[in-house]
Amino acid sequence: MSATDESGATDEFDSTTESVLRTDGLTKQFGEFVALDGVNLDVSEGEFRSVIGPNGAGKTTLFNVLTGALAPTEGTVTFRGEDVTDLPPHQRVRRGMGRSFQISTVFGGLTVRENVRLAAQSVVQGRGEIPFVRQFLSPTDRFEAVLDRTDEVLADIGLADRADDRANALAHGDRRRLELGLVLASDPDLVLLDEPTAGMGSEETQRTIRLVEEVLSDRTLLLIEHDIDLVMNVSDSVTVLNRGQVLATGSPERIAADDEVQRAYLGGVRE
Ligand code: ADP
Ligand code: MG
Repeated sequence: MSATDESGATDEFDSTTESVLRTDGLTKQFGEFVALDGVNLDVSEGEFRSVIGPNGAGKTTLFNVLTGALAPTEGTVTFRGEDVTDLPPHQRVRRGMGRSFQISTVFGGLTVRENVRLAAQSVVQGRGEIPFVRQFLSPTDRFEAVLDRTDEVLADIGLADRADDRANALAHGDRRRLELGLVLASDPDLVLLDEPTAGMGSEETQRTIRLVEEVLSDRTLLLIEHDIDLVMNVSDSVTVLNRGQVLATGSPERIAADDEVQRAYLGGVRE
């Protein structure tokens, strides 16, 4: 089924780092149709993993099952050693799984700072499985923590000098920065991005992916992206999905050289 197995790929990245995300036999059926068919993934701490594959391969379905938007028909999702298969999405977010671009909403009428603050607030002021110390903060200190986190994020995304402008007034690229900031505000360990460059031209796609690389360099990243050349440049490792199955996982070099991947996918789309 797969020319390069998952364990081999993980070793190639760095076998000493901790596994952040793992799936075992992840399967999703829509009626008779098998959208995901026994998917095994193992993503290490700090890894930049891209997921590629033709339209309809099951990439978005995979993300939906990982985030809890959809329940798998079979198989498990493990996050930082904990089986999260049956947890609802917000519980996963609290454990450090970051939402994707598509879930985060920019409020155009609010300022850049207000947008980031709202996103930071939802995490810092929550209770339960939030980072340990924050549970014991007084309301005032918690508010301070929100403001601190807001300033950190504004600096990280390079929008500190636009903080008081309305989000509506941002140019497209800066809006992308802000969207990334909303993801970052929750301080996620793992960020899932489903085609953040959908609808962009090639230059803007390049800029956006470089920005993702820059801003999220210290996170574990799972990215669905259709620009394969770009994926090969920025990723530590690549998983190729085809008809709901993992066709191969490995370093960009290994994926580019994989005969099966070439036949099924790369050969078909490169002009
Ligand atoms: P990709 O993101 O790789 O393009 P998707 O995960 O969106 O692929 O879709 C994989 C397959 O599953 C497609 O054939 C799609 O039509 C089907 N599919 C996705 N979501 C549903 C759903 N909610 N009900 C029925 N079929 C679905
Ligand atoms: Mg998709």
